[in-house]
Amino acid sequence: MIEVKNLSKRYGAHIAVKDASFTISKGEIVGFLGPNGAGKSTIMNILTGYISLTSGSATIGGFDIVDHPEQAKRHIGYLPEHPPLYLDMTVREYLNFIYDLKKVKFPKKPHIDEICKLVSIEDVENRLIKNLSKGYRQRVGVAQALVGNPDVLILDEPTVGLDPKQITQFRKLIEALGKHHTVIVSSHILSEIQAVCKRILIINDGEIVADDTADNLAKNLSSDHTLNLRVQGPQAEIEKTLLGIRGVLSVKCLGVVEKGSLDFEIEPEETADVRKDIFNRLSDRKWPILEFTTEEMSLEHIFLRLTDGKFTVPTKKTAKKNTEVEFTSSILDSNKEDDE
Ligand code: ADP
Ligand code: MG
Repeated sequence: MIEVKNLSKRYGAHIAVKDASFTISKGEIVGFLGPNGAGKSTIMNILTGYISLTSGSATIGGFDIVDHPEQAKRHIGYLPEHPPLYLDMTVREYLNFIYDLKKVKFPKKPHIDEICKLVSIEDVENRLIKNLSKGYRQRVGVAQALVGNPDVLILDEPTVGLDPKQITQFRKLIEALGKHHTVIVSSHILSEIQAVCKRILIINDGEIVADDTADNLAKNLSSDHTLNLRVQGPQAEIEKTLLGIRGVLSVKCLGVVEKGSLDFEIEPEETADVRKDIFNRLSDRKWPILEFTTEEMSLEHIFLRLTDGKFTVPTKKTAKKNTEVEFTSSILDSNKEDDE
């Protein structure tokens, strides 16, 4: 449905998107996740024909966005970050206006009726847009994107400014839309993307640094045989003891999480089960183990770790190369923003 090859966008000397390539199949719900300024809106604006690309190519439904912009655009419904709503129109007037603008061929009234029903705005159809809540305005924004029934919906940070209840409703809407449309949705908030998208493209500093399912990202980011240990005792000696165990490759002290104890991350050899030895050696030294886990980390935890500094993210494409990604803490700032 969407094929992007080596896409780059340059603003003067600044490169906003670097050599991005990805393919999105019909019916997928894909999330663009990345901190503010990563390049999410730029990619979306290029796909929707709002801005030009500097190099590379993109096709929508087989139509090249540069060579056949009209046909390519016909496949796309776009909800920009700041939807261009006409505040002095009623919802119905506005959607009729968009219908005319898009030169839609479907019978007008039933088409708009159907969209209003789908995004649950029937009860505000005759209200002026300026009198609507942010949640309703956002739905009207989605409604205008749906006019003409495009195959692909591109929604740029659709939940920004919504309260938690509106966000939940909006997620349901995106899921419903995903049944009949290919959907790309962007956010700088992990939980938003994780809730609705099977596949996540992580974008950082203009580059696609990961492209996988949420589950696989979690697996790849937390090498699945890492052990986490919370223990009471002297750091240097604990490290030395752990490193002395056969099969232990590396030990990293994560510092104090619980007062009076230290957390360690232990990476064993692929095939080694070092748990018994760890337990025995530490109890020999009378260093109590307060916690010992091997469970897979949630994506949220991984991103929490990502926000602390540089981590290696293996992607399908760069599995050998290992791209370094650095995130700002904005990725997990969801509650702060949602509650406003
Ligand atoms: P995101 O949507 O991920 O927050 P953007 O795509 O809006 O990121 O921006 C990516 C980068 O491109 C940022 O560094 C931003 O400052 C820069 N940028 C975006 N639009 C312009 C513009 N019109 N002129 C110059 N730089 C821009
Ligand atoms: Mg943006």
